[in-house]
Amino acid sequence: MWNDKRYHSLDYEMKKIFGEKGIKLSIDGNFTCPNRDGTIGRKGCIFCSERGSGDFNSQKEKSIPEQIEEQKQIMSKKWKSNTYIAYFQNYTNTYDTVESLRKKFYEAINCEDIKGLAIATRPDCISPEILRLLSELNSKTFLWVELGLQTINDNTAVFLRRGYKTEQFDITCHTLETAGIRTVVHLIFGIPGETKKEMLKSVKHISQKNIWGVKLHMLHVLRNTDLAKYYQKTHFKILTCEQYVDVVCDALELLHPDTIIHRLTGDGKKSDLIEPRWTLHKLKVLSDIDKELKSRDSLQGEKLPL
Ligand code: SF4
Repeated sequence: MWNDKRYHSLDYEMKKIFGEKGIKLSIDGNFTCPNRDGTIGRKGCIFCSERGSGDFNSQKEKSIPEQIEEQKQIMSKKWKSNTYIAYFQNYTNTYDTVESLRKKFYEAINCEDIKGLAIATRPDCISPEILRLLSELNSKTFLWVELGLQTINDNTAVFLRRGYKTEQFDITCHTLETAGIRTVVHLIFGIPGETKKEMLKSVKHISQKNIWGVKLHMLHVLRNTDLAKYYQKTHFKILTCEQYVDVVCDALELLHPDTIIHRLTGDGKKSDLIEPRWTLHKLKVLSDIDKELKSRDSLQGEKLPL
């Protein structure tokens, strides 16, 4: 058990490392994405929102220190802690020149009370030069890199318009691991055409790697996305809350106890979320996951092969 949880939560890990709650501040680094600027594609991933899958972050017009200060003011009303992680969340946060990236990341980590740096990116956007920069940052702060894998099924990845093959993810994962950089992998459950067995195949795939953390998301159909158009046309089956809780608990049982669970449910913007509306009741979803693990008398890693 990890305090009161049956899974190894990020909250637990942050308190263990820093002695208090770690608060993530979402920063908009004013980047774009090769899957949107025409390098790989123009339309982006089918589910990606206008703001590049980061709808709660600060405004890009403001400087990075300004964004951090603003976010700190907001968050300090909610939690009393001086441990902040600067989180470059939306678009592809390693898709720029090394000089520009270095400037932005150092601006962030040099702000008061910033104890760590989280960088979300694509596995095909980490060149050897960028890897060197990440290694340098890793020696100066508590760094993790997030990779949006979503699925290991290359067919459904084509449906998602992910724009790279799973093999690329495997290579980058290995590269980051070799460099000693913490890696967090995002998976999405409920992709049209994927069975529960296939979702768990993705979980098994990543559980064989030495990754630091995982984010599990339910697929969100957001307004003004191509996925919304596809949903209106096909009314594809959306997982119910019960089905999602069931697959999440199965996934947790397959993940190593040392793997840190960063997220178990998505945070869709209420006004933009078409389906599934049940994800708006985040606390209920989390409590249902707790209850399901308890009723199974199970823990994270319970079903890992010995
Ligand atoms: S890689 Fe990320 S930012 Fe780029 S289109 Fe896909 S979800 Fe959006």
